Amino acid sequence: MNQILSAPKVRLNDVQILDAQDPLAHCRERFQLPDGVIYLDGNSLGAMPKSVPARMTRAIEQEWAVGLIRSWNDADWYPAPQRVGGRISQLIGAKPHEVIVADSISVNLFKILVAALRMRPGRKRILGEIGNFPTDVYIASGVAELMEAEFIAVEPDDLLAAITEEVAIVSLTHVNYKSGKFYDMAAITQRAHDVGALVVWDLAHTAGAMPCELNAAKADFAVGCGYKYLNGGPGAPAFVFVAERHHQGLDQPLKGWHGHVKPFEFTHDYVAGNGMDRMLVGTAPQLSLIALEAALEAFDGVDMQLLRQKSQALTSLFITLVDQELSEFGFGLATPRDATKRGSQVSLTHPQGYAIIQAHIARGVIGDFRSPNILRFGFASLYISYCDVWNAVMILKDIMINETWKRAEFMKQKAVT
Ligand SMILES: *Cc1c(COP(=O)(O)O)cnc(C)c1O
Repeated sequence: MNQILSAPKVRLNDVQILDAQDPLAHCRERFQLPDGVIYLDGNSLGAMPKSVPARMTRAIEQEWAVGLIRSWNDADWYPAPQRVGGRISQLIGAKPHEVIVADSISVNLFKILVAALRMRPGRKRILGEIGNFPTDVYIASGVAELMEAEFIAVEPDDLLAAITEEVAIVSLTHVNYKSGKFYDMAAITQRAHDVGALVVWDLAHTAGAMPCELNAAKADFAVGCGYKYLNGGPGAPAFVFVAERHHQGLDQPLKGWHGHVKPFEFTHDYVAGNGMDRMLVGTAPQLSLIALEAALEAFDGVDMQLLRQKSQALTSLFITLVDQELSEFGFGLATPRDATKRGSQVSLTHPQGYAIIQAHIARGVIGDFRSPNILRFGFASLYISYCDVWNAVMILKDIMINETWKRAEFMKQKAVT
């Protein structure tokens, strides 16, 4: 019954042994993290890989300042969206030419949802989930309005039953941003295909956090984020995946010149570019793209199965220590206890969540708060150690024992939580 009492107590020494045996421990050296900070917010803005500053300096001082416009050719700026997409494809189980880097998740969702609806003429329903990230819901509603379609969101538990022959598109986020719970991608995709629907997966909390096999799951479309677990920097461009079988005839609505088959012929009529090229719209944010490309070097040689094992071990250790050390302070767990059902984050609940997170941040442990009562902790396996998890919980315990979160400065709500 009470697993907590029957389980042997975890001690610091056990945690130190886990670090000593961690096959990914060397990856932490690839990141520049400030002293005295335990960074549990890589699910919101990834830490900075050390490979980035030198590459950015070269991009600014040589390629931009000296090369000027010649760098679109000479420094290979122009093919960067395809090249960086190819690198990301390795992390998500796709082929290189199925992924391209462009715009933001929000904009890519718009392009993909419209294109997908056009592939299912006669069907008018976009099916989503209650509790999805707001932009996914807003964009789907906006697309429905524009396309004279309907957007219906159901509770995750009712989802399979709601995938009927009226549905054109199922639009879901793979790992939920609040709970960390994830869907069975292959099963839901199969169910959608059985009734002739298509699926769009949002990989914001999947890409770089855990292995993902888009093609093995027969996924149709996916979008994902450059600045979370891929560590591409604030506002890094996003990526979009379209399965090769859908490339032919893919008709996305934002027809910009970079999606044209021959942008530099400056013709009046739009002719869609080949394959994923047509997902491009305007000029790429080249400096951000270069930062993202350099950041992805942090994944070089990383076995994603090992990354998953570590992620499960980190999140499990966190939950065990919360049970062991914090049971009297009124925290709840909003993440599945079963490690095989959660991504790389753990969410706790507490009525005073906002102030507690602020007090935690003041002590150097950076997590974040999601309204109304969620304390969210992301565990990026490339740079978080088992001792970080230990220290994060012990500092939280200290804050709770001493009630430091009650200080007025921690109660004031900031613009970005
Ligand atoms: C972070 C996140 C986004 C962000 O969208 P942007 O357009 O990049 O701002 C979208 N969807 C989900 C599920 C997210 O977690």
